[in-house]
Amino acid sequence: MTKLVIPAPAIPTIPTADGGAFPLRRVYCIGRNYAAHAVEMGHDPNRESPFFFQKNPNNLDPSGEFPYPPQSSDVQHEIEMIVALKSGGTNISVDGALDHVWGYAVALDMTRRDLQAEAKKAGRPWEISKAFERSGPVGPLQPVSKVGHLPSGRVELKVNGTVRQESDLNQMIWKVPEMIAYLSEYFELQAGDVIMSGTPSGVGAVQRGDVMEASIEGLGSLSVKVV
Ligand code: MN
Repeated sequence: MTKLVIPAPAIPTIPTADGGAFPLRRVYCIGRNYAAHAVEMGHDPNRESPFFFQKNPNNLDPSGEFPYPPQSSDVQHEIEMIVALKSGGTNISVDGALDHVWGYAVALDMTRRDLQAEAKKAGRPWEISKAFERSGPVGPLQPVSKVGHLPSGRVELKVNGTVRQESDLNQMIWKVPEMIAYLSEYFELQAGDVIMSGTPSGVGAVQRGDVMEASIEGLGSLSVKVV
């Protein structure tokens, strides 16, 4: 075997509810997947083709703390459900898509909204606003064998006890099997890939000291302090 010329970086993982660790390969994130959020961001809520961006696997963070990132004064919360794949492929059918899911978790797609707005205006990529250190707080991954699939269920995000975002998983424009099928037309999905499935309306800014409490019915809740 060829000698590694620097030490291999650790494989990023997220914890599973049964005490294991799920190794991460890629993190796909869908944009504008709830009509009311598309409207609040100034877009047409009709069912246009989905679009995706990516975070880095090592941006996902189960620590329960979110360090306020540099270079932004408008960092916002987006509650999302993570879909974690145990297998993949290309051109996966909608009917067979859920067979590839290992489990689900509650997560936050933390966003430097000011930098994202600049990027949008200039037609630039979004990474600077989305794929920064610890930008994906995540709760324990719940296996399908325990929680099943979740076509519906209440989604709620509170900041310091006040509800900021609330919706239902059944309000997603593109459902989980459709997202998997669509992505597999463009990428070869593999075990370890996860999909962040979009956020409902009510996104807003956080400040140091705030406590975000994200919950999805059937998956439990995730508490994250902004530090
Ligand atoms: Mn998002």
